[in-house]
Amino acid sequence: MSHYYLWTIGCQMNQADSQHLSNYLESQGFQPAASMESADLVLLNSCVVRQSAEDRVIHQLASLKALKDANPSMVIGLTGCLVDSNIPQLQKRFPQVDVFFGPQAFGNLEEWMAARSVTKMSPTRHPACSRNGEPVEGPVLPTAFVPVIQGCDSFCTYCVVPFRRGREKSRPIAEIACEVKELVRRGVKEVTLLGQKVDAYGHDLPETQDLADLLTELNTLNRLSRIRFLTSHPQHMTTRLIDTIARLDKVCEHINLPVQSGDDGILTAMRREYTVQEYRELIKRIRSTIDGVALSTDVIVGFPDETEEQFQHTLELIQEIRFDSVHVARYSPRPGTWATRHLKDNVPHSIKRSHKKLLEATQSKISLEINQQLLGKNVEILVEGIEKDKWRGRTRTDKLVFFPDTVYHTGKLLQVKIEKASPWWLEGKPT
Ligand code: SAM
Ligand code: SF4
Repeated sequence: MSHYYLWTIGCQMNQADSQHLSNYLESQGFQPAASMESADLVLLNSCVVRQSAEDRVIHQLASLKALKDANPSMVIGLTGCLVDSNIPQLQKRFPQVDVFFGPQAFGNLEEWMAARSVTKMSPTRHPACSRNGEPVEGPVLPTAFVPVIQGCDSFCTYCVVPFRRGREKSRPIAEIACEVKELVRRGVKEVTLLGQKVDAYGHDLPETQDLADLLTELNTLNRLSRIRFLTSHPQHMTTRLIDTIARLDKVCEHINLPVQSGDDGILTAMRREYTVQEYRELIKRIRSTIDGVALSTDVIVGFPDETEEQFQHTLELIQEIRFDSVHVARYSPRPGTWATRHLKDNVPHSIKRSHKKLLEATQSKISLEINQQLLGKNVEILVEGIEKDKWRGRTRTDKLVFFPDTVYHTGKLLQVKIEKASPWWLEGKPT
């Protein structure tokens, strides 16, 4: 057994977990396989936040069943949010899977592999600091995700996350700082601190520490250029945190602040714990404190009983606030959630589709107008790699920038003069 294939779908937390899984497997002597078909060990890191994501996981599991029938020695593992506590039921449903382990339950995979001697026998690395015991070593990329708070205690009525990722649990500042120092030593220039409600970080720690304290500590690290954080919940975005973001030079001017709806009735039914007016005031405070801040949001259309008028309130809010970008999802009933148990998914698919399209079209006009303001201006980007023959990087405000060049640039901070703008990316030339 020597080659692994890791398939990932879902949020940045899943991407971070997959990075840790790869690091662990490579520390055990495994190498990445070129394809699923040629792998000895296949791991699927799943997402069930929406039905569409779950359908893709089920499709992969069906393809894997055929591969396993042809090659019974192939080992298959399933992790991520599809794995709930009822493993016997999962085993019955997916007999092709050899090992199930929940999000971040890496220890269960290690135990399973050790019990069956599935390791390649030549552990290669010994990390200076670790998360849940697994190594932080891995390929050198200029950017890295660092989970800082797991789980969620909010129980928004539509959301399955608290059921699959458990209660909130913050990592101590010292442990995070140690991991980030190690990443920086290996060439990482930018870290994104992750949490389902990253701005709730620290409330469960013994000392009174919050995200502002964590950002302040990480801002002191030499050779770390940028710090990002995802995803913020409006209820936890305090004035102290906003002031800290504005003050610290390494903390990027970008906040993802999901609003979900522009209607108070829907927000109450979603159990979001803020009103539209409170959200508006928060945005005002953020914009007046953080110079040049970019804002993005998430919206759900077609929540049970949503009327045309309530949808119009969301559309109007999007036009009023003028976010840099908006992610629109169609409501999808999720097993076990309050909304699924008590409300009917009664907004027709055709309405959900047309409302999503209308919001996206409205937003793409706004995003284009915002991005066009950068034409002719110089922006600082961190180059992440190459895509379709062009270098790809991001501004501090999280805008994607492409530029052509023959020189190697990954990991560099560059000034680029913007020459082209679209709603989703910019293009320019290094100056
Ligand atoms: N914690 C963040 C927050 O407070 O908004 C978001 C995390 S959630 C996993 C990511 C996004 O998925 C949400 O912002 C929401 O728009 C979307 N989402 C979650 N549950 C959904 C559902 N049942 N149907 C449609 N979209 C959903
Ligand atoms: Fe889900 Fe709400 Fe928690 Fe976000 S805050 S992860 S939407 S329950």
